[in-house]
Amino acid sequence: MTLQQTPQAGTAAGADTLAELSVFLIESPIMMARQQGVGDVQGTVKRVLIRLTSAEGVVGWGEAAPWEVFTGTAEAAFAALDSYLRPLVIGWPLSNIRGLMQAMDRRMVGHGEAKLAIEMAMYDILGKRAGLSVAELLGGRVRDTIPLSFSIADPDFEADMERMKKMVPEGNVIFKVKTGVKPHDVDMKHLAEMRAEFGDSIDLRLDYNQALAPFGALRVLRDVEQFRPIFIEQPVPRDALSAMAGFRAALDSPILADESCFDARDLMEIIRLDAADAISVKLMKAGGLQKAQGLMAIADTAGIPGYGGTLWEGGIALAAGTQFIAATPGMSLGCEFYMPHHVLTVDVLEERIANVAGQVVVPQGPGLGIKVTEASVRENARILATA
Ligand SMILES: [Mg+2]
Repeated sequence: MTLQQTPQAGTAAGADTLAELSVFLIESPIMMARQQGVGDVQGTVKRVLIRLTSAEGVVGWGEAAPWEVFTGTAEAAFAALDSYLRPLVIGWPLSNIRGLMQAMDRRMVGHGEAKLAIEMAMYDILGKRAGLSVAELLGGRVRDTIPLSFSIADPDFEADMERMKKMVPEGNVIFKVKTGVKPHDVDMKHLAEMRAEFGDSIDLRLDYNQALAPFGALRVLRDVEQFRPIFIEQPVPRDALSAMAGFRAALDSPILADESCFDARDLMEIIRLDAADAISVKLMKAGGLQKAQGLMAIADTAGIPGYGGTLWEGGIALAAGTQFIAATPGMSLGCEFYMPHHVLTVDVLEERIANVAGQVVVPQGPGLGIKVTEASVRENARILATA
């Protein structure tokens, strides 16, 4: 059978099709500067939101949040959705997400974030129709809360220390320090300050965002190991897998691959070269919820746990990430879904996903478990373009 853009009549779910797609290019203000070696961010971040409506009138929301130094641009995602995916999506049967993902891959290379936005909106609609959360549609939830990691990336380290002094008593104990941006001796001083202030009550992780050259990196990493990081993320450029394998063999600290691991093909290479102990899984890198679960099936088999990473997503994409982690056992290293509570001045959701005692609470409601309306989008973000 060939996949066609026709409704599959005869089944209850297949009777409904995707009828309307609205695309919004938005800009959201953020309340702190972020410095992480590449793509320093200040002031605002751009994203694309979509509203998908089924023929029966059920609405689902999706989000594409590329980052120009990592996966691409929001403007390109907007054009991909409006010009290239729209003709395929309209009229597609709601009961066949996997078929649409295949068809979108055939229609257009790359643009995983745009395809993911369509997929999460479809799951949102299906969940609302069935009275099930997306986690339940993805196989069922294995956890109701996810430990939250906050990234220490403010150019003003003292501002981050003040934040930590407020956050630690509230139960936020996981902190990922963006190392390699400032000189090594400054990183060492800051790590020492954090351990001196909070002792072993905090779970420290380090993320170099590819900052170190393979030559000489091992000495730097041996130095920072004394601060007992839970893992060291992406110390060297994404293609330097042999160097990563060397660190893995030489150090006690686990090595986590982020930029080195976008998709299943990257992971196969990491496993072949023994280049990482853990991976950062980002829906925007994987380009889909089903694809991210496929990636984790390989990781599970190789004994590699996953960490829930982010680019600059807002509440809609992070709701999808939360649902994915809730339904994927190997995603055991927590998540960094701190944007809506700690960085975005406002988010487009009517109500943010709850954070309680350092944990993200997986919403119980149907679909993505969030409330968004065009009014809540217009009130809380600057709309640059609509289609
Ligand atoms: Mg990273």
